Amino acid sequence: MNALPEGPALPQDRLVRTAIPGPRSQELMARKKNVVADGVATTWPVFAARAGGGIIEDVDGNRLIDLGSGLGVTVVGNAAEAVVRRLSAQAARFTHTAFSVTPYEGYVEVCEALAELTPGDHAKKSALFNSGAEAVENAVKIARVHTGRQAVVVFDHGYHGRTNLTMAMTAKNMPFKQGFGPFAPEVYRVPVAYGYRWPTGPDNAGAEAAAQAVDQITKQVGPENVAAIVVEPLLGEGGIIEPAKGFLPAIRRFASEHGIVFVADEIQSGFCRTGQWFACEDEGVVPDLIATAKGIAGGLPLAAVTGRAEIMDAAHAGGIGGTYGGNPVACAAALGAIETMRELDLNARARAIEALVKPRLTAMRDRFDIVGDVRGRGAMLAVEVVKDGASKEPNPQAAAALAKACHQKGVLVLVTGTYGNVIRFLPPLVISDELLAEGLDVLHEALEGHK
Ligand code: PLP
Repeated sequence: MNALPEGPALPQDRLVRTAIPGPRSQELMARKKNVVADGVATTWPVFAARAGGGIIEDVDGNRLIDLGSGLGVTVVGNAAEAVVRRLSAQAARFTHTAFSVTPYEGYVEVCEALAELTPGDHAKKSALFNSGAEAVENAVKIARVHTGRQAVVVFDHGYHGRTNLTMAMTAKNMPFKQGFGPFAPEVYRVPVAYGYRWPTGPDNAGAEAAAQAVDQITKQVGPENVAAIVVEPLLGEGGIIEPAKGFLPAIRRFASEHGIVFVADEIQSGFCRTGQWFACEDEGVVPDLIATAKGIAGGLPLAAVTGRAEIMDAAHAGGIGGTYGGNPVACAAALGAIETMRELDLNARARAIEALVKPRLTAMRDRFDIVGDVRGRGAMLAVEVVKDGASKEPNPQAAAALAKACHQKGVLVLVTGTYGNVIRFLPPLVISDELLAEGLDVLHEALEGHK
C-alpha cells in the first residue's frame, strides 16, 4: 500500500544530502540551547520542516524515514488529508469556547465514535482531555469516586506519564522520576508477565505473573482497598512488552471478583497500532475504563477516558474537565483521523506491516547474537539488545550506538525500555513497504558494522 490516497507533496524516498544533523539544524540546536530548558531533551538534533507518509523532511532538505511517528502518535501519517481538511474547516469556524461553557457538536461526535470503537457492548460514556497523563489521572479519579477506595495497582515496566500521580504510577526512575518526588501515595506495583525475562520461561509467565500479582495485591494492599488496576495491554515505554498469554484475562477476572475498576491504558497501543482498534481485544479483554490519546487525533493534543456509563457518571458535575479538554480543533482532527483509519483499513495495514517487518527482525535475531528478542504486534514492534543471547544481559550502549548509526543514515528509530536496550518501531501506518524495507536494511547494516 502506498501512503495517503491523495499523497503528500513530500517525495516518499530517503535522501541524505548533508551530514546529519545538517548546518541549519545545528544552528537551531544552538538557539534551542539558549532558550529551551535542558530537561526538554530531543532524541535527534534534527529540526523538522515537513512530514507526511513515511518521511520527515528536515530543515536542511534531508528526507528521513520515520519509524517513530512522533512517539507513536501519527498513526494516520503527518498532515493526513482528512485531518487537515476537518481541522482547517473547524479552525476557520471557531478555535475554542470551552466545552464546559459553550459546548459544540465535535466533542459529542468524538465520544460517540469512542463508544462505538472501544471494546464491549455496554453503555459507554467518555470525557476528553489534553494529554495521555491527564487521561490516566482522570481514570483514577473516576475509579476512586466510583468505588470509594483509594489504592491504585500498576505493573513493573509500566509507563503512564510525567504528572505527579502518573510519575508515581510509572516504573522507571531515570529519567522520568529522578529528583521529582515526593510522589502521590497509594500506588502499588506488582509483576507483569514479561516472557523474555521470566525466570521459568515465557510459557509459564502468564499464569505465574498473574498469580504473583494477585497474591501481592491480596496480601499487601487488600483488594477491598483497590479502586483501580491500571495496565498497558501492550507495554510501550517499558520495552514493547506483550504480557504473556493468560495474564490480562486473569487480572481482569480478579478485578471483576473484587469490584476493582480495570483500566486499560491504551494511549500508545490504541487506534489500529497493533492491528486491532485496541490491543486488549487480542485476548478478548473488556476494560471498565480505557484511556486513549496519541493516535486518536493525528497529532493534535487530545485524550479520552471511555468506559461503563455508571462508572463514568460517578464524578459529580464539574469534578472532571479543564479549560481545553476536547478542544474543537483537536476533536475535528480526531474525526479526520478516525475517518482515515476506517477508509484505509489501518488495522489491516498494521497487520501487513507486522508480516513484513517481523520476519526481517527475526532473521536479525538469528544472525546477530546481540539481538536477544523480537516482539510486538502490528506496527508496534521491537528488538531487545543484549550483551549476548545466553546471558540476556541488557546492552543499552549497543542499542544507543545502533540507533545513532541509523540516524546518521537518515532512519529515525527510538530507543526505549526499562534497561534502555530496546529499539522500537512505531512507524506511521501509511508508510510504504519500500520505506519500511529500506529502514530495515539500514538497521541490518548497522548491526553488521557493530563491534
Ligand atoms: N500512557 C502510556 C502507555 C504512554 O505511552 C504515554 C506516553 O508515552 C502516556 C501514558 C502519557 O501520555 P502523554 O505523554 O500524552 O501525557
